Amino acid sequence: MEKKIIYLDNAATTPMYPEAVEVMLPYFTERFGNPSSQYSLANEGKRAIESARKQIAATIGARPEEIYFTGSGTEADNWAIKAVAQAYRDKGRHIITTKIEHHAVLHTCEALEREGYRVTYLTPDEDGIIFPERLLRVLTPDTILVSVMTANNEIGTIEPIEELAKIATERGILFHTDAVQAYGKLPLSVEDGNIAMLSASAHKIGGPKGVGFLYVRRDVRLQSFLHGGAQEKRRRAGTENVPGIVGFAKAVELTFASREESEQRESELRDYFMERVLSEIPYARVTGSVKERLPGHVSFCFQFIEGETVLIMLDSDGICGSSGSACTTGQTEPSHVLTAIGLPEDVVHGALRFTLGRDTTKEDIDFTIDRMKEVIGRIRAMSPYYAKFAARDGKE
Ligand SMILES: *Cc1c(COP(=O)(O)O)cnc(C)c1O
Repeated sequence: MEKKIIYLDNAATTPMYPEAVEVMLPYFTERFGNPSSQYSLANEGKRAIESARKQIAATIGARPEEIYFTGSGTEADNWAIKAVAQAYRDKGRHIITTKIEHHAVLHTCEALEREGYRVTYLTPDEDGIIFPERLLRVLTPDTILVSVMTANNEIGTIEPIEELAKIATERGILFHTDAVQAYGKLPLSVEDGNIAMLSASAHKIGGPKGVGFLYVRRDVRLQSFLHGGAQEKRRRAGTENVPGIVGFAKAVELTFASREESEQRESELRDYFMERVLSEIPYARVTGSVKERLPGHVSFCFQFIEGETVLIMLDSDGICGSSGSACTTGQTEPSHVLTAIGLPEDVVHGALRFTLGRDTTKEDIDFTIDRMKEVIGRIRAMSPYYAKFAARDGKE
């Protein structure tokens, strides 16, 4: 019998909706035409792209011509930040972001620093929240861009981006948000005009890997990301990933058709998961905000264990979780997010993240917690340090 997999790493990527796979298939075979060509075979692809654009625009209250398809969420982040830096450099060279962004934003900003831009990295509070007052304090006449993620991938904290975007926009500064974790999970809208750019990715919501989009408000002066053909209004050249875009649109349709229901269901499972762990496993704490939190996002730090060790042991039971963000796994450096919210290094090493998905059941969570209790108990039992600590603390 094949071992059952309990997949609790949906922040890293998600399984595709079978319906999304299904609608992609004809675009590899009978509808393979290049959308830039002149015959009707090509028109099918072109029409599919424009209908996907329209559909996706509607989910955030944008106009279709403000949506640009990209090759990933990472590309959308890179494009937004680099292109604004380039286009607005006569106005200023100062960019504001946060210490807890995804590396797609952080490393892009670091690259710009090497080119002579000045970047301020805002520090969040201990829940991972970026306070608007902190943004107000660091704005300068030289600031051209503020980039703050909608929700954090490692700790699930939701940022007050409406307020942050308003502060920036009122001062004539562009606001970008990496909404890769939030898109399809939280209600998002660009209708008030304060968000200038927004990035999202298909594979985090049941779509294919290798396709994302960047929303660009129509007044933003944006340099082309790739030069070549006339695709994406000459701003992102290259033959379109037609099957990917079609699959993305299907995933968007299905995700948004049940978005509120999923939010409710995954939030309940999340709270159940957190409460059980906190009451049944000693020396555990939730990382990130308990209140301002993505549905389905559960993250902890456990003292006296290495997150990596627990993960390996859980993997032998078919349970997939994460010890930090997927991109930092394999590195020995402690997570930049957990460090930024002020956790000491020994606690950071005991980080575990579980992100639920549309197929996660209460039984999956119960099984996972039972295994966690066993594994964490076993690792701690081998630690003389823990025994001494627990004895003094009266837990054992
Ligand atoms: C996954 C992720 C990205 C990168 O998206 P890709 O499509 O995998 O390149 C960017 N930002 C956040 C917050 C993410 O979670």
